[in-house]
Amino acid sequence: MILCERSDKISSHHDKEELRFMIVILKRGTQEREVEPIYKMLEECGIIAQEITGETTRMIGMAGDTSGISEDSILCFPCVERIMRVQEPYKLAGRKFHPEESVFDIGGQKIGGGHFAVMAGPCSVESEEQILAIAAAVKDSGASFLRGGAFKPRTSPYAFKGLGLEGLELLVMAKRKTGMPIVTEIMSSEYLDAFAELADVIQIGARNMQNFTLLSQVGALKKPVLLKRGLSSTIEELLMAAEYIMAGGSSEVILCERGIRTFETATRNTLDVSAVPVLKAKSHLPVVIDPSHATGYWYYVEPMALAATAAGADGLMLEVHNNPELALCDGAQSVTPQVFHRIMNKVGRVREAIASS
Ligand code: PEP
Ligand code: MN
Repeated sequence: MILCERSDKISSHHDKEELRFMIVILKRGTQEREVEPIYKMLEECGIIAQEITGETTRMIGMAGDTSGISEDSILCFPCVERIMRVQEPYKLAGRKFHPEESVFDIGGQKIGGGHFAVMAGPCSVESEEQILAIAAAVKDSGASFLRGGAFKPRTSPYAFKGLGLEGLELLVMAKRKTGMPIVTEIMSSEYLDAFAELADVIQIGARNMQNFTLLSQVGALKKPVLLKRGLSSTIEELLMAAEYIMAGGSSEVILCERGIRTFETATRNTLDVSAVPVLKAKSHLPVVIDPSHATGYWYYVEPMALAATAAGADGLMLEVHNNPELALCDGAQSVTPQVFHRIMNKVGRVREAIASS
């Protein structure tokens, strides 16, 4: 295809320009006079356009900084059948301009590019005793990050919604005792300053994955972010949400697959294990799997943690509770510290097996 007349300029400016390569497919029988206004518009925008004519199909290929034209403005022309984007719209999160895998060093814990990290802890921080006991236990078994919720997105307004700022302080106390960096979810921009100061990794939960204002605001803090896939979001939507955070200023986004909504009700969600190789093909960002929210039952967590590890995930997020039957949130999917220990051993063996194969 002859689309490369400005390719030098394009590749040297890729970090600044919104680059897209588009193909416009024209309807059969399109007259010359119908196409002319399209060329005129493209010329005014400085786009290199090249017509490709096949036996039955006529197309316009375009390259250059297409940020000045929206797809809608082209679709408005009656002779246009459809538009195909040749390049993904996520340039910061995508592999195209960042082929090597990203490795993040967060408080001394590495993740990505062969570094595997486990984030573990209770769904919600409930008390000082609870978080300190769980933090010590998961650290002993090899977890790298302590994860706990202080602000909880609950479906029912009457359910326990977390200890709020007090929960954040308790996480910091557990970090001081164990040395583990903390991962915790932000739900509202009201607490941006507190999260900027106290959290090591800011979690954006599934329900807020497309809260675009929050994504940009969290990105502007330039801190590591754990971004969970929305309940019914596609992989492209997840990557676009990562793009929002990165465009906001953060370069350290960890992607998390936590199960998606399907017709299946035997599990809380359906774990999309294939999201691991797909995300890793499309993006340089580390990918972790959360088998706790994906399955909803503690006894399914171990097999799915092993499957995720075998699939090449860069880490896991696991809910662990020292007293699951009394947990104020997500007890049924929380493993005990003993089960967590066993999972960690088996995950280690899976990692060795795939490394040596
Ligand atoms: C959580 O991690 O505790 C949580 C609420 O998860 P999700 O946003 O994936 O539902
Ligand atoms: Mn939970």
